[in-house]
Amino acid sequence: MTVRELFIQATYLAASVLFILGLRSLTRPDRARRGMNQAALGMLLAIIGTLVNHEIVRYDWIIAGLVLGSVIGYPLGMYVPMTAMPQRIAISHMFGALAATLVGIAEYYTEMKHGTVAGPKMAALGFEVLFGALTVSGSFMAFGKLQEFITGRPVTYRAQNAMNIGLFVLIVLIFVFLIFRPEYPVLFYGMVLLSFAFGFLLVLPIGGADMPVVISLMNSYAGLASAATGFAIGNNVLIIAGALDGASGFILSIVMSRAMNRSFANILFGAFGTAGGTASTKTAAGLSVREISIEDAAIQLAYAQRVIVVPGYGMAVAQAQHQVRELADLVEKNGGEVKYAIHPVAGRMPGHMNVLLAEANIPYDKLKEMEEVNGEFAQTDVALVIGANDVVNPAARTDPSSPIFGMPILNVDHARHIIVLKRSMNTGFAGIENELFYDSKTSMLFGDAKSSLTKLVAEVKNV
Ligand code: NDP
Repeated sequence: MTVRELFIQATYLAASVLFILGLRSLTRPDRARRGMNQAALGMLLAIIGTLVNHEIVRYDWIIAGLVLGSVIGYPLGMYVPMTAMPQRIAISHMFGALAATLVGIAEYYTEMKHGTVAGPKMAALGFEVLFGALTVSGSFMAFGKLQEFITGRPVTYRAQNAMNIGLFVLIVLIFVFLIFRPEYPVLFYGMVLLSFAFGFLLVLPIGGADMPVVISLMNSYAGLASAATGFAIGNNVLIIAGALDGASGFILSIVMSRAMNRSFANILFGAFGTAGGTASTKTAAGLSVREISIEDAAIQLAYAQRVIVVPGYGMAVAQAQHQVRELADLVEKNGGEVKYAIHPVAGRMPGHMNVLLAEANIPYDKLKEMEEVNGEFAQTDVALVIGANDVVNPAARTDPSSPIFGMPILNVDHARHIIVLKRSMNTGFAGIENELFYDSKTSMLFGDAKSSLTKLVAEVKNV
């Protein structure tokens, strides 16, 4: 082994270890930042190792790519708001999968120019372009649905599932044929195009609400495509990073589906999740809500001994996390205790609430997971619901006809008093009524969460 080769393998090994440590650190909010830094350092080492490869004959295109990638990547990282993170991640997967697909096509083209492609290599290349191409179009669709330039509603038509399954079977048949007979470029490129079309068709019937699960599934496909690229071009760090990516994306999809009480099959074929749209099965006819003034809400909070804050998507929209912290500080100054109840699918991506609350320097030990905190609501003086809706909807427990029936929820309705901060009686992402808002213990404080909290903070100081 030459010194150069030794250096490359050493950087790849170090990069792989850093990726694994990074993932491990990401499992706890207080170590998440470190995890990102470890992973970024790992990626830097992997790039350095790759750049000294003797097979590189020209650097000009690589430098151009580096500059272009940085010009696109920096604003994506710095300026995209947290609420748009799911679609930002979708577009990153699209680029990653596009890279894997292009490498696969280039590799096939080069090998064919020199004769043929050996069976095992063809298997890796086929896998790479198949998953790569469907991830490109699938991720683009997910991005479009969340960014709302494509309708977020499920688009369905007759025999859709049968046609999709038929198309996938056809793609797999071509793939298997190519492993034994790779000398048909028309079939290879045809497979790429069909996989590309399959990605579009696969995501078409899935509603906007399920997009984050689709995105993490696409993450896992992009990982598999990268691992296959690693096998095809004999690159160890790609195999390891791709496998980590594939496995973690898959686990995340399962965790998210469970937290929403949905099966994979139901998400992929169920056409649920109309973005904010479906007419609710239950209507609020005959029920009335109780509004509360800022002054009264401030008095309740100022004298409360136990408060549980329940953040949801609306807190993220309002970017109200700093005001939440200020209010909690005041309650604590008055002798009260404040905890935060985190539902696993609150917001629009896993960990959404943890990240926002951490941004406001709220201590991690006060963030309580659902199972941990659910038993405590009954002893809570005030549950302060900030822009959360579906994750506190009792219909998930009581109404078998509800689309969220069976989803574990936060037991906010067990608290002595409930104050809900939201702008109107609008539904949440599942598009259904919430009886919690009509509960006799519930008071509604209407308005943008940030401005309501700012006023509350000022008022609590005066109590
Ligand atoms: P919801 O989407 O159920 O509700 C959010 C509420 O916030 C809305 O009812 C809205 O009411 C209110 N809101 C919006 N903007 C503001 C604002 N500026 N100030 C105050 N309130 C505001 O959020 P939840 O967090 O309760 O539930 C998350 C949903 O997303 C679940 O259905 C979950 O299944 C789904 N989901 C989550 C994923 C995840 O990984 N986290 C992944 C996939 C889906 P109003 O308009 O009246 O203000």
